[in-house]
Amino acid sequence: MGLPPALLIAWIEELEQFGAARAPDQGIVMVGPMLIQHGTVEQQQRFLPKILSGEHVWCQGYSEPNSGSDLASLRTEAVQASDEKGAHFIVNGQKIWTTLAQDATCIFMLVRTDKHAKKQEGISFLLCELSTPGITIRPITTLAGEQEFCEVFFDNVRVPAENLVGRLHGGWTVAKALLGFERIFLGSPKQSQYALGQLARLAKSRHLETDPIFMQRYTALRLDVADLTAAYTAFADIVKQGNPLPASVSLLKIWASETYHRIGTLLAESCNELGAVAGDQLLDGQSFNALAPLFGSTSAMIYGGTNEIQRNILARQVLDLPA
Ligand SMILES: Cc1cc2nc3c(=O)[nH]c(=O)nc-3n(C[C@H](O)[C@H](O)[C@H](O)COP(=O)(O)OP(=O)(O)OC[C@H]3O[C@@H](n4cnc5c(N)ncnc54)[C@H](O)[C@@H]3O)c2cc1C
Repeated sequence: MGLPPALLIAWIEELEQFGAARAPDQGIVMVGPMLIQHGTVEQQQRFLPKILSGEHVWCQGYSEPNSGSDLASLRTEAVQASDEKGAHFIVNGQKIWTTLAQDATCIFMLVRTDKHAKKQEGISFLLCELSTPGITIRPITTLAGEQEFCEVFFDNVRVPAENLVGRLHGGWTVAKALLGFERIFLGSPKQSQYALGQLARLAKSRHLETDPIFMQRYTALRLDVADLTAAYTAFADIVKQGNPLPASVSLLKIWASETYHRIGTLLAESCNELGAVAGDQLLDGQSFNALAPLFGSTSAMIYGGTNEIQRNILARQVLDLPA
């Protein structure tokens, strides 16, 4: 629909409200806004319509083995070259934890274009079609038994020079702008609200409302979710007004994922022995997936920058604590 930020957030909130599955939308929430800010007119005309039509499905190629939290140490290399077909980059290296790469058609990625510059200053931002010869995608099975992310290998992959976003060696600036869009979506209270609903359903079916210890923990979690929802609304309002998110948005990601994790823990504990079994289980005549929120929240504390890294950001950029 090509919505402005305020309506895009409202649209995602409505989908979540009705429990609709979220399509792989990294093109819409990340690549599109980034191209509008940093792409050339030619890139906008080439990529934006295909993002909106769903023809292009994007995945994010940042992390590498040994380059996760310390992302700027990444080593996937792109070397400039030129031949009769035009200027291009030759890419070699490996990405990992690339969510849904097996279903995507394109990858946006950070590559090293200058090995001698300071870490952040030798990185460029490239767009690449996953059908390009030399790319191998190998799905990884998660703890939950699902194939959700992949290893992506690049072996002499030719990427046209016009797929460079921003200036050569200027990819870090583009990547940081794009993270801003990601942060608000990572702070959504919906996962916690959903898990809390599961907990309420379990409490009803197992008559846990009469257990004062359970009720004390459940009530505290309800209040935590209310706090999270209020904090999310405040940050979402900043985005809706078209303003950049402050560094303090890191607290939203921490609060969202850790509240979700606390609920997941109580859900698994309250299912007694079935809390140790993966998948849907019948409990007192009702179906529960006791471990799903615990698995989901454990990875939520890692992806999008781990909670330890978010705490470092708060310490340095918000609280001004010494390094
Ligand atoms: C479900 C899931 C989906 C993901 N999807 C994608 C994706 O689509 N694209 C992509 O590029 N990446 C993706 N990632 C990767 C994710 O961004 C990284 O896992 C994350 O940044 C951490 O990097 P790492 O795994 O290398 O851990 P490391 O950086 O090796 O960290 C290991 C541990 O050390 C801690 N640590 C590291 N440095 C510090 C420090 N300076 N101070 C304090 N503690 C520190 C970390 O917090 C962590 O607990 C995904 C990850 C998950 C779990």
